[in-house]
Amino acid sequence: MINPNNKQTVYRVAVPSPLRRLFDYLSPVAQNEVSDSKILRAGTRVFVPFGHRKIVGIIVMIDNTSDLPLSRLKPIASIIDNEPLIPQYLFRLYVWAANYYQHPIGDALFHSFPALLRKGEDLPIQTIKHWRITEQGQNFSLEQLSRAPRQQEILALFHLEEVISQNDLRRRKISFPALKQLAEKDLIALTNVSEKVSTVHGKNDLLAEQPLDLYLEQKAALNSIDVTSFNPYLLFGETGSGKTEVYLQAIEKVVRCGKQALVLIPEINLTPQTFDRFKQRFNCRIAVLHSGLTDREKGLAWDAARTGKASVVLGTRSAIFTPLKSPGLLIVDEEHDSSYKQQEGYRYSARDLAVIRAQKESIPLILGSATPSLESLYNCEKNRYTKLVLSRRPGKASAPCWIPVDIRKSKLTNGYSRELIEAITQALSEGDQVLIFLNRRGFAPTLTCHECGWISNCSSCEARLTVHRTPNRLVCHHCERMSPIPSKCPFCHSSQLECIGQGTERSEDILKALFPNTLILRVDRDTTRRKLAMKEVLAQINKGNPCILIGTQMLAKGHHFPNVTLVGILDADGGLFSPDFRAPERMGQLITQVAGRSGRGEKSGIVILQSLYCDHPFISSLISNDYEGFSEEIRKERKLARLPPYRYMAIIRSEATNNAAAVDFLKYYRQCAESLPPKNTEVNYLGPLPATMERRNDRFRHILSIYCADRGELQGLIKRLCLKVENSSLARRVRWSVDVDPQDIS
Ligand code: ADP
Ligand code: ZN
Ligand code: ZN
Repeated sequence: MINPNNKQTVYRVAVPSPLRRLFDYLSPVAQNEVSDSKILRAGTRVFVPFGHRKIVGIIVMIDNTSDLPLSRLKPIASIIDNEPLIPQYLFRLYVWAANYYQHPIGDALFHSFPALLRKGEDLPIQTIKHWRITEQGQNFSLEQLSRAPRQQEILALFHLEEVISQNDLRRRKISFPALKQLAEKDLIALTNVSEKVSTVHGKNDLLAEQPLDLYLEQKAALNSIDVTSFNPYLLFGETGSGKTEVYLQAIEKVVRCGKQALVLIPEINLTPQTFDRFKQRFNCRIAVLHSGLTDREKGLAWDAARTGKASVVLGTRSAIFTPLKSPGLLIVDEEHDSSYKQQEGYRYSARDLAVIRAQKESIPLILGSATPSLESLYNCEKNRYTKLVLSRRPGKASAPCWIPVDIRKSKLTNGYSRELIEAITQALSEGDQVLIFLNRRGFAPTLTCHECGWISNCSSCEARLTVHRTPNRLVCHHCERMSPIPSKCPFCHSSQLECIGQGTERSEDILKALFPNTLILRVDRDTTRRKLAMKEVLAQINKGNPCILIGTQMLAKGHHFPNVTLVGILDADGGLFSPDFRAPERMGQLITQVAGRSGRGEKSGIVILQSLYCDHPFISSLISNDYEGFSEEIRKERKLARLPPYRYMAIIRSEATNNAAAVDFLKYYRQCAESLPPKNTEVNYLGPLPATMERRNDRFRHILSIYCADRGELQGLIKRLCLKVENSSLARRVRWSVDVDPQDIS
């Protein structure tokens, strides 16, 4: 490239590597690679020499100096993209996020692109099957087909329309065998036509069904959403209050203006259901992005979003990075869900990035939830978000009625109180469905010896092995280690082994014994491993016959089961006394969400909650249907302890097979931090402390927490520290990571 100052252009390139730095390259040697018309910009993919290999890199910055002498820099080997595949503002957001979450830039950027692009490949091209009439077909007289009326009818159609897409033919219920016969006679032929960018939807063809008549609060919420500028809204609507209907009508507004909506949902399992609902409403293309797709499918969906072929883009966490041609609206459904925060590797929060993204795109953002995060409620209080409330269920459905069962007084048999068993019997006799919630899979959480007290511990983790019955084995839920169930105690050889506690498998057995004539469906990670398993279970439930569902949190999220009138929560106390300060919040959200599965149809619902602490303020606000009161209770504690959202927080994690190495690294990190000149805002440290599970998968784990009231201050500090410790010998002995705004504190 000819440079006016006669200086060389230096490209700072990100490569997939755990290093917190970019690598400098010169312009490609081949003169024709970079001409004036083809200026390399940030976000462009290139091949660069790296060691002895040639790898994919992404240009992040363009400069004309380097820390290295220019003579030592190598030129870019070749250019992959003629122009960046995403707009500059979005690429800058990718870079911003890598910095904010303190993740090595190369790794973060590569994570933000779909796999095909990471490998240096091109985006796939979507073609759509069409049938067209051949010349022979055009000259063929219809009378000759009088003995084959179906074929005759189809050929007549092609005489009029010439080219018809396969989907269109399917919609018109054309007989495919007849189509094939015409093709065999060479009267019509299959062709692939590349997909066209859809045009702006007119008034008449966008909707596939009539929108529902909104009730007053829904109407008010929809009218408050200003689709012309950046505004974050918290749509705080009870489960089943009709948030989705508000999303649909808000989407309709922006799609009518020729814009696109990006909708994030927390669970891959919910995609088919949400997709169906959107498809039922809109005639436009809806692209879907989640981790269960092949690389090609993801590439196609990403491209459909990027080029504007899809008006609606629906996806899980990583879909937040998807480029849109004409952004119009961002929606994050179930915004409180912790799955929006990636817990491994690149620990970004898709929900938080959505706020920044909507701001950059000057579009509205709807964060929807029946159980908003403390952060979002706090942001409403600070007038950063507008709170829109849906406080009731539409039609006849009403909020469920809670019945707490104090299990200190009411004796449990195999985990079930008398009250719960009676209520199940009653619901089934009325032809209703029942949902039992137990957030623990497997048969029993512990196997123990009655004689000597031996306990089934995992040899690699500080955790118990869970007993599983189908198939029979002991499984560690933390390192996945498996072993056969011993018939005798490995310590004293007694055969008095006993399963303690219960998981969903055992609860299912108990229900089968109690209700031998009732269909019992278990939903947890073990029963839904097969790709279609969840779909099959949902189909069974939707038949509406009386049955009992027993399952983990997989049942709690987002599903609409109109015939469930009773929800039983076997053990509500899990989150009350956890070392993770977010545990009570998560517990309250989960319980409220599960309870919300009850009474969503015509009949009203009941929730039976078994707890040892029915009078605990957290539990009592939950059972008076007062999630906001519950969250205020929790916020009081957070405020006192100066925990988020009252201060910002980051965690440095370190793990190693050598316990001392893991601790020493964090000690060093803290020492370095404390030796820096004092900041304007106070910074506090906690740790190094052992993680809740100190040993997992044969590695010792420790954490150092850092708190500061000023976000920028905390950011600057961690950035400097990471660069400083990265190359220390202590860092090389451990696996370490930074977690900014952590969700999981264990
Ligand atoms: P949420 O997303 O808040 O859980 P949904 O949008 O799924 O709630 O709505 C729950 C049920 O109520 C759905 O069956 C939906 O069709 C119905 N519904 C929503 N809004 C209305 C309305 N305005 N009138 C009648 N039914 C409605
Ligand atoms: Zn024993
Ligand atoms: Zn283990």
